[in-house]
Amino acid sequence: MCGIIGINGFTDVSRELVLGLNSLQHRGQDAAGIVTFNNHFRIKKGIGLVNNVFDEKILRAIEAPLGLGHVRYATQGTNALSEAQPIYMNYPSGLAMVHNGNVINSADLTKRLREDQNRVIETTNDLELILYTLASHLETKNLRNFTVDDIFASVEATQEKVQGAYSALTLIANRGLLAFTDPRGIRPLVYGKKITGRGTIYAFASETSCLECLGYETVRELEAGEAVFVDTEGKIYSKILCRKNPAFCVFEYIYFASEDSVIKNRLVAGERVKMGKLLARHFDRKKLTPDVVIDVPASGYFSASGLAEELKVPYRRGLSKNKYIGRSFLLPTQSQRDLAVRQKLRPIKSILTGKKVAVLDDSIVRGTTSKRLVEILRESGAKEVYFVSSAPPIKFPCVYGIDMSIKTELIAANNDEENITRFLGADAVIYQSLEDLITLYPRNEFCHACFSGEYPTGICPDSLMEIQNERIEAKRKQ
Ligand code: 5GP
Ligand code: MG
Repeated sequence: MCGIIGINGFTDVSRELVLGLNSLQHRGQDAAGIVTFNNHFRIKKGIGLVNNVFDEKILRAIEAPLGLGHVRYATQGTNALSEAQPIYMNYPSGLAMVHNGNVINSADLTKRLREDQNRVIETTNDLELILYTLASHLETKNLRNFTVDDIFASVEATQEKVQGAYSALTLIANRGLLAFTDPRGIRPLVYGKKITGRGTIYAFASETSCLECLGYETVRELEAGEAVFVDTEGKIYSKILCRKNPAFCVFEYIYFASEDSVIKNRLVAGERVKMGKLLARHFDRKKLTPDVVIDVPASGYFSASGLAEELKVPYRRGLSKNKYIGRSFLLPTQSQRDLAVRQKLRPIKSILTGKKVAVLDDSIVRGTTSKRLVEILRESGAKEVYFVSSAPPIKFPCVYGIDMSIKTELIAANNDEENITRFLGADAVIYQSLEDLITLYPRNEFCHACFSGEYPTGICPDSLMEIQNERIEAKRKQ
């Protein structure tokens, strides 16, 4: 998963891009990059957090009125700097691009681009495939004067060829800023505007919270299969091109998006409360009566408070999070992940000792976090521990960019609830039911493939295997 931003302004946008990337930092911490354009492309990328990559000196060197930014969470390719975004090309047309998502027909596209276009594919980042496919269509037009229709026709042809999930932003040299989504709108993309003395500035970003932080008024989200183009004078055009049944990623609500973002007119925090409330019925069914509900900070908070409210049991913060330790989920080995969880989440004993504790996390992926937490809670004197997941059992790999693409690692793909309870060492495990989740996020609008195995794009077993093997290989190289 990644975060993207693009701004079409009249004066320098580099500082706004950095601030915007800061507010998208939760979407990726592997690398950050910005490209700007003012007669030349100027690019800076680096490994790690946004604030480690950019300083005032660098910003002075990339000042320009038009630019794109990216924060990366490598779910495809390794996390080497050479794989980081943005990427740009100068010939025959000047194009720079960032994207969020995952292409599922990479092998086929790579072959086509090599054989038909004589392109050299230099990275394993699927962004190259989207960029070159778009370029191959734009290059058939009059390069000195692309019309908006030419641009939209090229996007449509790209959407027809590139399968998977992608929200992409493209800077077209001397023309403007282009945004588009895949035909099902699997990944988020929204735009906003700011009215200035010089005219209207448009900004595109993965989340509304990013636009709001920068003082933009949110206009709307891009629809499935839509393209929006803003020219250098600030004129805006939009068109729905290749459109299939929408399938927005439900994991954005569960885990990924910032709690203060609004997606499809629904505040993420409010959605998490609803998911927590839905979990209460499982406690009645299993006749479990916790004394306290706690969350796994920070993504479990709103669901835990919803659950506590519904159960009429107090919510307390039973675990304190050390904010300065990176994501345990990303560490390559199990023992490193175990140690990181212990350092990161410290128990508040007086809240736990002698209590029946319901502990809520947004999801159980491999079970690493939950197993360690159950141990920590027991060591702190909890009488019983019920582990609660806002997400249903994750049984199928995600091929659309959430870091859950290796089936053998998914605990719920390989075990039933009884086995999982035993593995975690909990007294009970409570999962959201898929049916309940679907009442909030209906099948014809959302993607639940990681829970149901119903991939909205369709996927052949070979591609599934290829995506999984690619991820295993990339993790091995890290
Ligand atoms: P597990 O330890 O079971 O492998 O992972 C579950 C934990 O990872 C949960 O605390 C959840 O917040 C977090 N998580 C779930 N999905 C992702 C993801 O795609 N990336 C990262 N970094 N963390 C995730
Ligand atoms: Mg977590």
